Amino acid sequence: MYDVVVIGAGVAGLNASWELARRGYRVALVERKPLEEIGEKTCGDAIGVHHFETLGWHPPEKVIEIRYRGVKIYSPREDHSIVVPGEGVGVHRKKFGEWLLKRSLDAGVELYASHVFLSPILGDNRIEAVRVKEIGRPGTKELRARAFIDASGASPALRKQVPREWPIAERPFITDYNLGFREIIELEKPLEGEDKHYAIIYMNTEIAPGGYWWLFPKRGGEVGNIGLGVIWSREGYNPRHNYYRYLKPRFPGRVIHSGGGIIPTRRPLPTLVWRNMAAVGDAAYTVNPVHGGGIGSSMEAAMVVAKHLSEALEKGRVDEETLWGANIDYMRLYGAKQAGLDILRMFLQKLGNEELQWIFEKKLVSGEQIYELGTKASLAQEIVRNIVSFTKLLRKPSMLKRLIQVRDYMSKAEKLHLDEYPAKPSDIHEWMSRVEKLYEEYRALIGFDPGPRVPW
Ligand SMILES: Cc1cc2nc3c(=O)[nH]c(=O)nc-3n(C[C@H](O)[C@H](O)[C@H](O)COP(=O)(O)OP(=O)(O)OC[C@H]3O[C@@H](n4cnc5c(N)ncnc54)[C@H](O)[C@@H]3O)c2cc1C
Repeated sequence: MYDVVVIGAGVAGLNASWELARRGYRVALVERKPLEEIGEKTCGDAIGVHHFETLGWHPPEKVIEIRYRGVKIYSPREDHSIVVPGEGVGVHRKKFGEWLLKRSLDAGVELYASHVFLSPILGDNRIEAVRVKEIGRPGTKELRARAFIDASGASPALRKQVPREWPIAERPFITDYNLGFREIIELEKPLEGEDKHYAIIYMNTEIAPGGYWWLFPKRGGEVGNIGLGVIWSREGYNPRHNYYRYLKPRFPGRVIHSGGGIIPTRRPLPTLVWRNMAAVGDAAYTVNPVHGGGIGSSMEAAMVVAKHLSEALEKGRVDEETLWGANIDYMRLYGAKQAGLDILRMFLQKLGNEELQWIFEKKLVSGEQIYELGTKASLAQEIVRNIVSFTKLLRKPSMLKRLIQVRDYMSKAEKLHLDEYPAKPSDIHEWMSRVEKLYEEYRALIGFDPGPRVPW
């Protein structure tokens, strides 16, 4: 019998398992990848350093490939840019994962590599065990535990199999995701000049509808992590297709790795905990809805959940009541900001190249404001308010109106997730209806089609 079974050895599962094992709990970590592939992940590999400050630890130098001075964002015509300050790092993703894994194993985590989670075994309205299968071997195994964490990524393996009336089972819309594709390329022509010190984002709705394309330099500009994300929608945009059409010809070189993946870009799950389970990382959408960065925030969610779970285990009672503090803490730390940024994300996804270009040309927003927007939840409304009061907007009344709307709804969404977040689990369903209603209202206002719910 384990104290906790964690499903998925991505950054979220690795951090959760380490946090629990170092507190002395017996933890099983189930991962379908073989040992030698743990750590691999199709990703832009860029993380803001502020996440490590929150986590209270820093990765070793050997996994860091570059230090960024900030993020540079280019307009659709690539003739205007905004520099967003804030130190970041580009990690060697596999080595970073391997380092996290070693840390977990050293703390005593028991790894089930090459094991696929199949299904939960439910009893008495909680999870008693999970059924797993070792790849290439006959038969299945049952792992029993006092608690279970779903850290299985954007298509959550456990969460989608628990009873639908558990609020943790909430189903997203397809437009709550971006579809990504990227290559890591040893560039024929290494990057030169200032740009090689920045993670570079290009706004262009033709190349990346409902997302952006990026060039994240590595190894002093000799290597580029180049990719794009597009909204998953009824239009059926294909990131790989757009990558080959628009980006590949621009960046000749030797391909080190190429791959695709999906990225949740929405507010967090209404609750990270229910009964004796929790969800963290992409499985709980703990990602920044605007830029899709989720490495840091996945690990932060894992840290918060592990702290409350260990307290509940200590008390000898694991359920949504003893775990509820995880929601309160996560909403304060990151979730409420995500909720506001989810509104901003939809607003941005409705803009075309002409409007985006105009925003850059008129210098409607500064790099400092974007930095604040990206790091400090409570300031979001204030910043959008400053933008709105800009006199330049008077010549574009329709934009002014839409900015006022986005500001108001961002503010309402943040308030709902912060001050009005239910103090006790019994109020969650009523609160969820209010959240749904607010987002539905905003979508209707801007004519945003959410598409169908995801087909799982
Ligand atoms: C193209 C792309 C670019 C990105 N760029 C960035 C970026 O630059 N910066 C940033 O911060 N974030 C970025 N992200 C997002 C970031 O990668 C994720 O938010 C983060 O890695 C999520 O970690 P996770 O542990 O929740 O999930 P994952 O890393 O997906 O880990 C889930 C693990 O669960 C395992 N698993 C799944 N199902 C099962 C099962 N049934 N049984 C056993 N194991 C299972 C998987 O094999 C996997 O190892 C990007 C994502 C994509 C797709």
